[in-house]
Amino acid sequence: MIPSILPTYSRAPLSFEKGEGSWLVTQDGARYLDLGAGIAVNALGHAHPALVQALTEQANRLWHVSNLYQIPQQQALADRLVAATFADTVFFTNSGTEACELAVKMARKHFFDAGQPERVEIITFSGSFHGRSSAGIAAAGGEKLTKGFGPLLPGFVHLEFGDHDALHAAISERTAAIMIEPVQGEGGIRTVPDQCLKGLRDLCDQHGILLILDEVQCGVGRTGRLFAHEWAGITPDIMMVAKGIGGGFPLGAVLATEYAASGMTAGTHGSTYGGNPLGCAVGAAVMDIVDDPAFLAEVRTKAAGLRQRLEGLVAAHPEVFEEVRGTGLMLGLKCRVAPADVVRAGYAQHVLTVPAADNVVRLLPPLTITEDELAEAVARLDAAASALAAPEPA
Ligand SMILES: *Cc1c(COP(=O)(O)O)cnc(C)c1O
Repeated sequence: MIPSILPTYSRAPLSFEKGEGSWLVTQDGARYLDLGAGIAVNALGHAHPALVQALTEQANRLWHVSNLYQIPQQQALADRLVAATFADTVFFTNSGTEACELAVKMARKHFFDAGQPERVEIITFSGSFHGRSSAGIAAAGGEKLTKGFGPLLPGFVHLEFGDHDALHAAISERTAAIMIEPVQGEGGIRTVPDQCLKGLRDLCDQHGILLILDEVQCGVGRTGRLFAHEWAGITPDIMMVAKGIGGGFPLGAVLATEYAASGMTAGTHGSTYGGNPLGCAVGAAVMDIVDDPAFLAEVRTKAAGLRQRLEGLVAAHPEVFEEVRGTGLMLGLKCRVAPADVVRAGYAQHVLTVPAADNVVRLLPPLTITEDELAEAVARLDAAASALAAPEPA
Protein backbone atom coordinates (compact mmCIF):
# COMPACT_ATOMS: atom_id res chain seq x y z
CA MET A 1 0.00 0.00 0.00
CA ILE A 2 1.32 3.45 -0.86
CA PRO A 3 2.30 5.42 2.25
CA SER A 4 0.26 8.49 3.13
CA ILE A 5 3.33 10.57 2.24
CA LEU A 6 4.16 10.05 -1.45
CA PRO A 7 7.30 7.91 -1.17
CA THR A 8 9.67 10.03 -3.28
CA TYR A 9 12.25 10.19 -0.48
CA SER A 10 14.05 7.35 1.28
CA ARG A 11 14.22 8.97 4.68
CA ALA A 12 16.54 8.29 7.59
CA PRO A 13 14.81 6.97 10.71
CA LEU A 14 15.41 10.27 12.49
CA SER A 15 12.90 12.86 13.62
CA PHE A 16 13.65 16.13 15.35
CA GLU A 17 11.55 18.14 17.71
CA LYS A 18 13.55 21.34 17.89
CA GLY A 19 16.68 23.05 16.73
CA GLU A 20 19.16 25.25 18.59
CA GLY A 21 21.89 26.89 16.53
CA SER A 22 23.99 24.10 15.00
CA TRP A 23 22.11 21.35 16.84
CA LEU A 24 18.97 19.33 16.20
CA VAL A 25 17.26 17.67 19.14
CA THR A 26 15.06 14.54 19.03
CA GLN A 27 11.97 13.96 21.14
CA ASP A 28 14.01 12.03 23.72
CA GLY A 29 16.61 14.77 23.97
CA ALA A 30 19.39 13.30 21.80
CA ARG A 31 21.43 16.09 20.22
CA TYR A 32 22.75 15.89 16.66
CA LEU A 33 25.39 18.26 15.29
CA ASP A 34 23.92 19.50 12.01
CA LEU A 35 26.43 19.75 9.15
CA GLY A 36 23.62 19.58 6.59
CA ALA A 37 21.62 22.62 7.68
CA GLY A 38 18.58 21.44 5.74
CA ILE A 39 20.80 21.26 2.63
CA ALA A 40 22.31 24.74 2.99
CA VAL A 41 18.96 26.28 3.93
CA ASN A 42 19.44 27.02 7.64
CA ALA A 43 22.30 29.40 6.90
CA LEU A 44 22.02 30.94 10.37
CA GLY A 45 21.36 27.66 12.16
CA HIS A 46 18.13 26.72 13.87
CA ALA A 47 15.87 29.14 15.71
CA HIS A 48 18.20 32.12 15.27
CA PRO A 49 16.69 34.81 17.56
CA ALA A 50 16.78 37.53 14.88
CA LEU A 51 14.91 35.33 12.40
CA VAL A 52 12.38 34.17 14.99
CA GLN A 53 11.75 37.80 15.87
CA ALA A 54 11.42 38.92 12.23
CA LEU A 55 8.98 36.10 11.46
CA THR A 56 6.83 36.41 14.58
CA GLU A 57 6.61 40.21 14.41
CA GLN A 58 5.48 39.97 10.79
CA ALA A 59 3.13 37.06 11.58
CA ASN A 60 1.40 39.18 14.19
CA ARG A 61 0.82 41.94 11.65
CA LEU A 62 0.18 40.55 8.16
CA TRP A 63 0.85 37.25 6.37
CA HIS A 64 -0.34 37.64 2.82
CA VAL A 65 -1.79 40.38 0.65
CA SER A 66 -1.06 39.36 -2.99
CA ASN A 67 1.16 41.01 -5.54
CA LEU A 68 -1.89 43.00 -6.63
CA TYR A 69 -0.70 45.48 -3.99
CA GLN A 70 2.50 47.15 -2.84
CA ILE A 71 4.42 44.98 -0.39
CA PRO A 72 6.86 47.15 1.59
CA GLN A 73 8.78 44.15 2.97
CA GLN A 74 9.31 42.89 -0.59
CA GLN A 75 10.41 46.35 -1.74
CA ALA A 76 12.88 46.62 1.14
CA LEU A 77 14.45 43.21 0.42
CA ALA A 78 14.63 43.89 -3.33
CA ASP A 79 16.32 47.26 -2.71
CA ARG A 80 18.73 45.56 -0.38
CA LEU A 81 19.64 42.79 -2.88
CA VAL A 82 20.03 45.34 -5.68
CA ALA A 83 22.33 47.45 -3.50
CA ALA A 84 24.45 44.43 -2.54
CA THR A 85 24.85 42.83 -5.99
CA PHE A 86 25.16 43.26 -9.76
CA ALA A 87 21.38 43.19 -10.08
CA ASP A 88 19.04 46.01 -11.07
CA THR A 89 15.85 44.11 -10.37
CA VAL A 90 14.53 41.13 -8.38
CA PHE A 91 11.58 38.72 -8.63
CA PHE A 92 10.77 36.66 -5.55
CA THR A 93 9.80 33.00 -5.68
CA ASN A 94 9.12 30.33 -3.06
CA SER A 95 11.83 27.90 -4.16
CA GLY A 96 14.93 27.37 -6.24
CA THR A 97 13.26 25.54 -9.07
CA GLU A 98 10.74 28.35 -9.52
CA ALA A 99 13.72 30.67 -9.85
CA CYS A 100 15.00 28.36 -12.61
CA GLU A 101 11.65 28.60 -14.38
CA LEU A 102 11.82 32.38 -14.46
CA ALA A 103 15.51 32.46 -15.42
CA VAL A 104 14.69 30.37 -18.50
CA LYS A 105 11.62 32.43 -19.39
CA MET A 106 13.49 35.70 -18.86
CA ALA A 107 16.42 34.72 -21.12
CA ARG A 108 14.10 33.62 -23.93
CA LYS A 109 11.87 36.68 -23.62
CA HIS A 110 14.90 38.94 -23.72
CA PHE A 111 15.89 37.67 -27.14
CA PHE A 112 12.31 37.43 -28.39
CA ASP A 113 11.81 41.11 -27.66
CA ALA A 114 15.24 41.92 -29.08
CA GLY A 115 14.13 40.59 -32.46
CA GLN A 116 16.08 37.32 -32.17
CA PRO A 117 13.29 34.85 -31.45
CA GLU A 118 15.47 31.96 -32.68
CA ARG A 119 17.72 32.36 -29.64
CA VAL A 120 16.01 29.91 -27.30
CA GLU A 121 18.74 27.42 -26.39
CA ILE A 122 20.31 27.30 -22.97
CA ILE A 123 23.60 25.49 -22.48
CA THR A 124 23.96 23.51 -19.23
CA PHE A 125 26.48 21.04 -17.82
CA SER A 126 26.60 17.45 -16.63
CA GLY A 127 26.17 16.95 -12.90
CA SER A 128 24.15 20.13 -12.57
CA PHE A 129 20.96 20.46 -10.58
CA HIS A 130 18.35 23.14 -11.04
CA GLY A 131 15.41 21.69 -9.13
CA ARG A 132 12.57 19.30 -9.91
CA SER A 133 10.18 21.37 -12.02
CA SER A 134 9.82 20.46 -15.67
CA ALA A 135 12.21 23.22 -16.72
CA GLY A 136 14.58 22.35 -13.88
CA ILE A 137 14.95 18.69 -14.82
CA ALA A 138 15.14 19.48 -18.54
CA ALA A 139 17.86 22.04 -17.81
CA ALA A 140 19.95 19.64 -15.74
CA GLY A 141 19.24 16.76 -18.07
CA GLY A 142 20.60 13.92 -15.92
CA GLU A 143 18.89 10.56 -16.40
CA LYS A 144 18.09 10.18 -12.69
CA LEU A 145 16.07 13.40 -12.89
CA THR A 146 14.44 13.04 -16.29
CA LYS A 147 13.81 9.33 -16.96
CA GLY A 148 10.12 8.66 -17.42
CA PHE A 149 9.11 12.31 -17.33
CA GLY A 150 9.23 13.07 -21.03
CA PRO A 151 8.52 14.80 -23.25
CA LEU A 152 11.00 17.19 -21.69
CA LEU A 153 10.93 20.94 -22.21
CA PRO A 154 13.07 21.42 -25.32
CA GLY A 155 15.85 23.92 -25.88
CA PHE A 156 18.59 22.73 -23.52
CA VAL A 157 22.03 21.74 -24.74
CA HIS A 158 23.86 19.51 -22.27
CA LEU A 159 27.64 19.53 -22.22
CA GLU A 160 30.26 17.69 -20.19
CA PHE A 161 31.37 19.69 -17.15
CA GLY A 162 34.73 21.28 -18.03
CA ASP A 163 34.73 20.44 -21.77
CA HIS A 164 35.86 23.78 -23.21
CA ASP A 165 36.02 22.61 -26.83
CA ALA A 166 32.47 21.27 -26.74
CA LEU A 167 31.34 24.57 -25.25
CA HIS A 168 32.87 26.66 -28.03
CA ALA A 169 31.38 24.32 -30.62
CA ALA A 170 27.90 24.40 -29.01
CA ILE A 171 27.38 28.16 -29.21
CA SER A 172 25.33 29.09 -32.24
CA GLU A 173 22.84 31.68 -33.47
CA ARG A 174 20.23 29.70 -31.50
CA THR A 175 21.99 30.14 -28.15
CA ALA A 176 20.32 32.41 -25.59
CA ALA A 177 22.31 31.66 -22.44
CA ILE A 178 24.71 29.52 -20.48
CA MET A 179 23.39 28.30 -17.12
CA ILE A 180 25.80 27.02 -14.47
CA GLU A 181 26.26 26.58 -10.72
CA PRO A 182 29.54 28.25 -9.63
CA VAL A 183 29.85 25.33 -7.20
CA GLN A 184 27.82 22.25 -8.05
CA GLY A 185 25.98 21.04 -4.96
CA GLU A 186 24.01 17.90 -5.78
CA GLY A 187 26.64 17.06 -8.40
CA GLY A 188 29.24 16.50 -5.68
CA ILE A 189 30.67 19.87 -4.60
CA ARG A 190 32.45 20.58 -7.85
CA THR A 191 33.81 24.14 -7.95
CA VAL A 192 34.04 25.89 -11.29
CA PRO A 193 37.55 27.43 -11.23
CA ASP A 194 37.61 31.25 -11.20
CA GLN A 195 39.40 31.22 -14.57
CA CYS A 196 36.58 29.18 -16.10
CA LEU A 197 33.88 31.49 -14.76
CA LYS A 198 35.83 34.42 -16.23
CA GLY A 199 36.09 32.51 -19.50
CA LEU A 200 32.34 31.88 -19.51
CA ARG A 201 31.69 35.58 -18.92
CA ASP A 202 33.99 36.52 -21.81
CA LEU A 203 32.39 33.94 -24.08
CA CYS A 204 28.91 35.24 -23.30
CA ASP A 205 30.04 38.80 -24.01
CA GLN A 206 31.68 37.82 -27.31
CA HIS A 207 28.54 36.09 -28.52
CA GLY A 208 26.02 38.50 -27.01
CA ILE A 209 24.40 35.79 -24.90
CA LEU A 210 23.38 35.76 -21.23
CA LEU A 211 25.17 34.17 -18.30
CA ILE A 212 22.76 32.61 -15.80
CA LEU A 213 24.28 31.56 -12.48
CA ASP A 214 22.44 29.14 -10.21
CA GLU A 215 23.52 30.22 -6.72
CA VAL A 216 20.62 28.48 -5.00
CA GLN A 217 23.02 26.36 -2.93
CA CYS A 218 26.34 28.25 -3.10
CA GLY A 219 24.97 31.77 -2.55
CA VAL A 220 24.13 33.88 0.52
CA GLY A 221 27.49 33.66 2.27
CA ARG A 222 28.01 29.91 1.82
CA THR A 223 31.43 30.26 0.15
CA GLY A 224 32.58 33.14 2.36
CA ARG A 225 31.47 35.83 -0.10
CA LEU A 226 27.87 37.05 -0.32
CA PHE A 227 27.66 35.26 -3.70
CA ALA A 228 30.10 32.69 -5.03
CA HIS A 229 30.74 34.44 -8.37
CA GLU A 230 32.38 37.31 -6.49
CA TRP A 231 35.46 35.11 -6.06
CA ALA A 232 35.96 35.19 -9.84
CA GLY A 233 35.44 38.94 -10.08
CA ILE A 234 32.65 38.54 -12.62
CA THR A 235 28.92 39.21 -12.62
CA PRO A 236 26.11 37.23 -14.25
CA ASP A 237 23.17 38.65 -16.19
CA ILE A 238 20.67 36.53 -14.28
CA MET A 239 21.11 34.74 -10.95
CA MET A 240 18.92 32.19 -9.20
CA VAL A 241 18.86 32.33 -5.41
CA ALA A 242 16.90 30.34 -2.79
CA LYS A 243 17.82 28.03 0.14
CA GLY A 244 19.95 30.24 2.45
CA ILE A 245 18.17 33.51 1.62
CA GLY A 246 15.15 32.43 3.66
CA GLY A 247 17.13 30.83 6.48
CA GLY A 248 14.48 28.08 6.61
CA PHE A 249 11.46 30.03 5.40
CA PRO A 250 10.57 29.10 1.78
CA LEU A 251 11.99 31.99 -0.23
CA GLY A 252 13.77 32.27 -3.55
CA ALA A 253 14.62 35.02 -5.99
CA VAL A 254 15.78 35.79 -9.49
CA LEU A 255 18.19 38.70 -9.64
CA ALA A 256 18.87 40.28 -13.02
CA THR A 257 20.30 43.24 -14.84
CA GLU A 258 17.93 45.68 -16.46
CA TYR A 259 19.23 44.49 -19.84
CA ALA A 260 18.48 40.80 -19.22
CA ALA A 261 15.10 41.52 -17.64
CA SER A 262 13.98 43.89 -20.40
CA GLY A 263 11.23 41.57 -21.66
CA MET A 264 9.57 40.98 -18.32
CA THR A 265 6.83 43.60 -18.41
CA ALA A 266 3.53 43.67 -16.51
CA GLY A 267 1.60 40.44 -16.98
CA THR A 268 4.50 38.33 -18.27
CA HIS A 269 5.13 36.45 -15.01
CA GLY A 270 3.67 36.05 -11.56
CA SER A 271 3.44 34.09 -8.33
CA THR A 272 0.71 34.02 -5.71
CA TYR A 273 3.04 33.66 -2.74
CA GLY A 274 6.31 34.92 -4.19
CA GLY A 275 7.58 37.87 -2.17
CA ASN A 276 4.97 37.57 0.56
CA PRO A 277 5.52 39.68 3.71
CA LEU A 278 6.53 36.73 5.91
CA GLY A 279 9.26 35.47 3.58
CA CYS A 280 10.61 38.91 2.81
CA ALA A 281 10.72 39.92 6.48
CA VAL A 282 12.84 36.84 7.19
CA GLY A 283 14.96 37.40 4.08
CA ALA A 284 15.78 40.93 5.22
CA ALA A 285 16.81 39.59 8.64
CA VAL A 286 19.10 37.06 6.94
CA MET A 287 20.66 39.81 4.82
CA ASP A 288 21.14 42.01 7.92
CA ILE A 289 23.46 39.34 9.30
CA VAL A 290 25.10 37.78 6.24
CA ASP A 291 25.70 40.91 4.15
CA ASP A 292 28.38 42.11 6.54
CA PRO A 293 32.11 41.99 5.71
CA ALA A 294 32.97 40.90 9.28
CA PHE A 295 30.49 38.02 9.19
CA LEU A 296 31.77 36.84 5.81
CA ALA A 297 35.40 37.12 6.96
CA GLU A 298 34.50 34.89 9.89
CA VAL A 299 32.93 32.34 7.54
CA ARG A 300 36.21 32.29 5.56
CA THR A 301 38.29 31.84 8.70
CA LYS A 302 36.10 29.00 9.97
CA ALA A 303 36.09 27.42 6.52
CA ALA A 304 39.89 27.43 6.36
CA GLY A 305 40.06 25.78 9.77
CA LEU A 306 37.47 23.17 8.84
CA ARG A 307 39.25 22.40 5.60
CA GLN A 308 42.51 21.83 7.44
CA ARG A 309 40.84 19.49 9.91
CA LEU A 310 39.19 17.60 7.06
CA GLU A 311 42.53 17.19 5.28
CA GLY A 312 43.71 15.55 8.50
CA LEU A 313 40.61 13.35 8.56
CA VAL A 314 41.24 12.19 4.99
CA ALA A 315 44.88 11.48 5.80
CA ALA A 316 43.86 9.46 8.86
CA HIS A 317 41.30 7.37 6.93
CA PRO A 318 42.65 6.81 3.44
CA GLU A 319 40.51 3.67 3.12
CA VAL A 320 37.33 5.73 3.62
CA PHE A 321 38.13 9.14 2.12
CA GLU A 322 39.92 10.25 -1.02
CA GLU A 323 39.97 14.04 -0.88
CA VAL A 324 38.42 17.27 0.40
CA ARG A 325 36.83 19.57 -2.16
CA GLY A 326 34.74 22.72 -2.28
CA THR A 327 34.81 26.35 -1.24
CA GLY A 328 34.06 28.08 2.06
CA LEU A 329 31.53 26.19 4.17
CA MET A 330 30.41 24.23 1.11
CA LEU A 331 32.77 21.28 1.40
CA GLY A 332 32.73 17.72 0.16
CA LEU A 333 34.50 14.56 1.23
CA LYS A 334 35.09 12.37 -1.78
CA CYS A 335 34.70 8.81 -0.49
CA ARG A 336 36.21 5.45 -1.36
CA VAL A 337 33.13 3.80 0.17
CA ALA A 338 29.45 4.46 -0.50
CA PRO A 339 28.70 7.99 0.72
CA ALA A 340 25.38 6.76 2.14
CA ASP A 341 27.40 4.48 4.47
CA VAL A 342 29.44 7.46 5.69
CA VAL A 343 26.28 9.47 6.28
CA ARG A 344 24.75 6.53 8.19
CA ALA A 345 27.90 6.04 10.28
CA GLY A 346 27.62 9.75 11.07
CA TYR A 347 24.10 9.26 12.42
CA ALA A 348 25.49 6.78 14.95
CA GLN A 349 27.92 9.50 16.11
CA HIS A 350 25.13 12.09 16.13
CA VAL A 351 26.56 14.16 13.30
CA LEU A 352 24.45 14.95 10.21
CA THR A 353 25.91 15.15 6.70
CA VAL A 354 24.35 14.99 3.23
CA PRO A 355 25.23 12.63 0.38
CA ALA A 356 25.79 13.96 -3.15
CA ALA A 357 26.67 12.52 -6.56
CA ASP A 358 30.23 11.61 -7.56
CA ASN A 359 30.73 9.61 -4.33
CA VAL A 360 30.77 12.71 -2.17
CA VAL A 361 29.49 13.48 1.32
CA ARG A 362 28.56 17.13 1.67
CA LEU A 363 29.28 19.35 4.66
CA LEU A 364 27.10 22.47 4.63
CA PRO A 365 27.05 23.59 8.27
CA PRO A 366 25.22 26.67 9.45
CA LEU A 367 27.40 29.70 8.68
CA THR A 368 27.06 30.54 12.38
CA ILE A 369 28.69 27.29 13.55
CA THR A 370 31.45 27.88 16.12
CA GLU A 371 35.09 26.76 15.94
CA ASP A 372 34.45 24.43 18.88
CA GLU A 373 31.48 22.88 17.12
CA LEU A 374 33.56 22.37 13.99
CA ALA A 375 36.26 20.62 16.01
CA GLU A 376 33.56 18.46 17.61
CA ALA A 377 32.06 17.73 14.19
CA VAL A 378 35.34 16.48 12.77
CA ALA A 379 35.97 14.36 15.89
CA ARG A 380 32.57 12.73 15.31
CA LEU A 381 33.32 12.19 11.62
CA ASP A 382 36.62 10.61 12.68
CA ALA A 383 34.75 8.22 14.98
CA ALA A 384 32.30 7.46 12.16
CA ALA A 385 35.14 6.67 9.76
CA SER A 386 36.84 4.45 12.35
CA ALA A 387 33.59 2.54 12.87
CA LEU A 388 33.23 2.11 9.12
CA ALA A 389 36.75 0.77 8.76
CA ALA A 390 36.40 -1.61 11.73
CA PRO A 391 34.66 -4.96 11.22
CA GLU A 392 31.01 -5.08 12.24
CA PRO A 393 30.54 -6.25 15.85
CA ALA A 394 28.99 -9.73 15.95
C1 LIG B 1 18.24 22.98 -4.24
C2 LIG B 1 18.64 23.52 -5.56
C3 LIG B 1 17.69 23.91 -6.52
C4 LIG B 1 16.21 23.68 -6.32
O1 LIG B 1 15.70 24.38 -5.24
P1 LIG B 1 14.26 23.96 -4.65
O2 LIG B 1 13.99 25.02 -3.62
O3 LIG B 1 14.38 22.59 -4.10
O4 LIG B 1 13.30 24.01 -5.77
C5 LIG B 1 18.13 24.48 -7.69
N1 LIG B 1 19.45 24.65 -7.92
C6 LIG B 1 20.39 24.30 -7.03
C7 LIG B 1 21.81 24.55 -7.33
C8 LIG B 1 20.02 23.70 -5.82
O5 LIG B 1 20.95 23.32 -4.95
